[in-house]
Amino acid sequence: MSFIIGKACVECVDTSCVTVCPVDCINGPLYIDQLGEEVRTMTPDELKGKQLYIDPSMCINCGACVPECPVDAIYRDEDEAVSNNDLESVHKNYEFYGLKYE
Ligand code: SF4
Repeated sequence: MSFIIGKACVECVDTSCVTVCPVDCINGPLYIDQLGEEVRTMTPDELKGKQLYIDPSMCINCGACVPECPVDAIYRDEDEAVSNNDLESVHKNYEFYGLKYE
């Protein structure tokens, strides 16, 4: 079980959540080994369709990221994402880290 960044993040990509995560498990939109720094050098065009992701293998479910998101894009778990018709984002979060959601 993991917190999941949902479709509302697309084209927002605020990165406030990244700075509060105690285990540094929020990454993207491009690199899994950076903490969203690439967003600062990307143009609005380059950010189109992009979002941040949470590493499901590292998230400790603390909830610190949730109030930081200006567009309420973060689900408390996979089930909450599914109940918001956003299973696609669950798969995207897992797949960004080379994992598979089953
Ligand atoms: Fe990081 Fe906690 Fe959010 Fe998980 S719930 S992504 S550990 S801040």
